Amino acid sequence: TLGDKIIETLSRPYEVDQHTLYIGASVGTAIGPRDGRTVEMLMRSADLALYRSKDQGGGSHSQYEPKLHVHAEERRVMEIALRKALENDEFSLNYQPVVSADSGGVVGFEALLRWNNPEFGIVSPAKFVPLAEDARLIVPIGEWVMRTACKEAMKWPSAVKVAVNVSADQLNDPEFLNMVVSALQDSDLPAHRLEIEVTESIFMSEGTGAAGKLDEVIAMGINLSLDDFGTGYSSLSYLKRLPVDTLKIDREFIKDIPDSESDMQITSAIINLAQNLGFKVVAEGVETAEQLAFLKANQCELAQGFYFSKPIPAHKAMILLESQQLRSRA
Ligand code: C2E
Ligand code: MG
Ligand code: MG
Repeated sequence: TLGDKIIETLSRPYEVDQHTLYIGASVGTAIGPRDGRTVEMLMRSADLALYRSKDQGGGSHSQYEPKLHVHAEERRVMEIALRKALENDEFSLNYQPVVSADSGGVVGFEALLRWNNPEFGIVSPAKFVPLAEDARLIVPIGEWVMRTACKEAMKWPSAVKVAVNVSADQLNDPEFLNMVVSALQDSDLPAHRLEIEVTESIFMSEGTGAAGKLDEVIAMGINLSLDDFGTGYSSLSYLKRLPVDTLKIDREFIKDIPDSESDMQITSAIINLAQNLGFKVVAEGVETAEQLAFLKANQCELAQGFYFSKPIPAHKAMILLESQQLRSRA
């Protein structure tokens, strides 16, 4: 009750110099001796509860529970393993085809990172990429991804592109552009065969120059895709400011087609928007023939998803390229 009262009181608007200012508060509590027998342990428990309140969006109160400690401990152990993963050669890349919705022909592959650790097994990138970002490991890991993907793409027919996911922290690294130039030079891959995928989250750290760096990426002849389109927090105004070539419609809008009328409306509106602005558009997460039929009927050019192929190891991507045509019926 006290925690909620503190939040409520602090969250009332403040009038300062004729401006109305809003601040928020988050509270985490721990109770001794149950949650800690020393001041240090008690504060650490309260801190873990506070992180949970913030993770949930703030403005709330959380009480310490032992499972918070278990999670934090898991993260710590995983982070230690992640620090050694590069040198222990535990990373690999899978490649998922991006196909022409009409013909089913492969136009490119998206490189997707996999971590296989002796202790944790195969860890999802959705779990370890955020951890790598927090631990400042994403820069060296991302460099490995870029170099490996460029080298692999050189084995493919010259019309086939490779897409690499890049997080905002990588763009903020002063060496980012040099790294990309060097990866292209070492592999001999022409810049126009490389596509960099960024999410709307790069606009959250505006002012750090991340978005500006993308102009230079484009100037090098590299393609730029906006990944997970429609799920971020940004406004549409960045579409004017950013030299994007491709919008990737998030799976979120595709997965309930044809059951969800609103998802169909949104998807068709995004396709229209992209085409009117001169962008290519890729539908992500296509799993069924109905979804593909809907996309074709709405003139969506490109598609990606389990319906065509799951992400596959490099040697299987080669075999797939030899047989070229993926399913285009429906
Ligand atoms: P993403 O870039 O949006 O990649 C698409 C994700 O959707 C992949 O998950 C892919 O396996 C999954 N997917 C594709 N088609 C289907 C489908 O039909 N159905 C379903 N249910 N899922 C589908 P994955 O490989 O687990 O990667 C998750 C995310 O991790 C990626 O989302 C990307 O944001 C991030 N990621 C992966 N590799 C890298 C990397 O090298 N660097 C960075 N910074 N992030 C990466
Ligand atoms: Mg992606
Ligand atoms: Mg995506």
